[in-house]
Amino acid sequence: MVHQDDTKMMEEIRWLKAEKSVYIIAHYYQNGAIQDVADFVGDSYAMALAAKDSPLDTILVAGVDFMAESAAILCPDKTVLSPELTSTCPMADSIEVSDVERFKQEHPEGLVVSFVNTPAAIKAVSDICVTSSNAARIIEKLPQDVPIFFVPDQNLGCNISARLDRPLECFPSSCPIHAAVTPESILEKKAQYPDAAVLVHPECDPRVVALADYVGSTAGIIDYAVHTERQQLIIGTECGIFHKIKQVSPGKELILADPNLICQDMKKITLEKVLASLQTMETRITVPEDIRVKAAAALEKMIEYSS
Ligand code: SF4
Repeated sequence: MVHQDDTKMMEEIRWLKAEKSVYIIAHYYQNGAIQDVADFVGDSYAMALAAKDSPLDTILVAGVDFMAESAAILCPDKTVLSPELTSTCPMADSIEVSDVERFKQEHPEGLVVSFVNTPAAIKAVSDICVTSSNAARIIEKLPQDVPIFFVPDQNLGCNISARLDRPLECFPSSCPIHAAVTPESILEKKAQYPDAAVLVHPECDPRVVALADYVGSTAGIIDYAVHTERQQLIIGTECGIFHKIKQVSPGKELILADPNLICQDMKKITLEKVLASLQTMETRITVPEDIRVKAAAALEKMIEYSS
């Protein structure tokens, strides 16, 4: 429900972004009101493309820090703003450059494939970036006879490895939100809603993925949910996507697979903070040029291999 204060703030945000020519890009895991004031809403892959194609020279990214960083990496000539610097991703922050260097020393011929959920410094030492929507398609195109180090999400790595029947060395980290979904919670929900389809994100545990009717990226889950004839859907990804599904398919019954599927870091961004960011035009996100150039190469390669 949108409160009166929120409506007023949303009006101010819409007026200010037009006045100051700011393009707002938001992730599907943001609160509904933030999605409603954004010019573009998408998953991390779509957000990166939207930043590149932004019609305006100033972009405000409503998402965790690596998303704003990706925009700054891909758009060095644009001003990228973050409304909340403490909105970070614990999984992205779990890997160090030395972890990647260790693999490279042991496997000089190997390739490092990094999920976009990584800091710029990790992208800079990676051969290519991927997102959950294109990871399998990209890895399929890489040479067959070289070892691959997949960082930092071991659940996503394991699920892709099984799908492609190709071994991947995975960094031992995972998204605490998606990893919270257990096979038990899915089985419990299936017993409660026997007619419901189960839709889960590939960042979930492989045992959870094995129980799903559909496995896909955030955008993929939304698309499936909107188009399927099934009316009850058990959703195994962050609850923010309910907003978009309900906008397009208000009749669908959405059941969260686990009550912990809420990313508190994403929810740190509020209307107040977006408004303050537009008023002050802070905080600008920049990446040191030597790192940016290398990280941009890994992201550009992802875009090239995705097509
Ligand atoms: S949902 Fe998981 S991967 Fe996404 S930002 Fe939150 S902690 Fe990171």
